[in-house]
Amino acid sequence: MTGSSPDLIEAREVSKIYRSEDSAVKALASVDLSVRQGELIVLVGPSGCGKTTLLLILAGLESATRGRVFFSGRELDGPRREIGLVLQDYGLFPWKTVRCNIELGLVIRREPIDSDKVDAMLEELDIADKADLFPQQLSGGQKQRVAIGRALILNPQLLLLDEPFAALDTLTRERLQDLVLDVCRSRGLGMVMVSHNIPEAVRLGEKIVVMTGQPGRITRIIENPMARNTDYRASDQFYNMTRILRRELEGGNA
Ligand code: ADP
Ligand code: MG
Repeated sequence: MTGSSPDLIEAREVSKIYRSEDSAVKALASVDLSVRQGELIVLVGPSGCGKTTLLLILAGLESATRGRVFFSGRELDGPRREIGLVLQDYGLFPWKTVRCNIELGLVIRREPIDSDKVDAMLEELDIADKADLFPQQLSGGQKQRVAIGRALILNPQLLLLDEPFAALDTLTRERLQDLVLDVCRSRGLGMVMVSHNIPEAVRLGEKIVVMTGQPGRITRIIENPMARNTDYRASDQFYNMTRILRRELEGGNA
């Protein structure tokens, strides 16, 4: 998508304070972030700088203490089917098969199950032969494919992912990065992924949003348009960009 695409989601001056009886944690302070249709954004920053909080606010699962979030121009007031969320621990139900775990997105939304669509999803994610297995029979990478399938089955416009590949080995991780790129590009989805991994941020993020804590703020947005190239990972530009990002993170309090 070009710079003229409309904003899919926009956070305006979002602040978040978690309050309990005897404490208040300032998790986010005046964060502005917008994601256009088809735009892929990666959020990086040290632990505790509010990345997950920001993602949950974009998902409509946490409310901002101050500031507002707009989705397709309307104020976001809760979770929506157009916003898919994928978490690090997969969130799969161990007593349900792969197929049933993917269908769960539809079941929760009380929508009819279209088994042809579920079959197509299993094929696209390369887990068709695992459809009748249970999560404990799968590798980490396969589990994460199921979690991605469950988010995609609802045809989201925006995919939010919180360190989805942190537990995976390098090659599995790279395969899943390519899969996420394929599904986002083929569907024109916007994406916000939280990652701790510098090469992952450089491979996936057309914009790399660097955060620092605490309270969590955005300190820099690095434009990384080469992330659109399929053979970026093997190029000199890729290594240059990983160096730039590393320097940026080391300059902060990472
Ligand atoms: P990150 O994902 O960047 O590691 P988080 O968004 O999880 O950061 O957390 C930001 C800050 O808010 C941390 O200090 C964390 O301890 C605090 N925090 C997160 N969730 C809660 C919560 N539900 N209640 C209280 N404090 C929280
Ligand atoms: Mg987190």
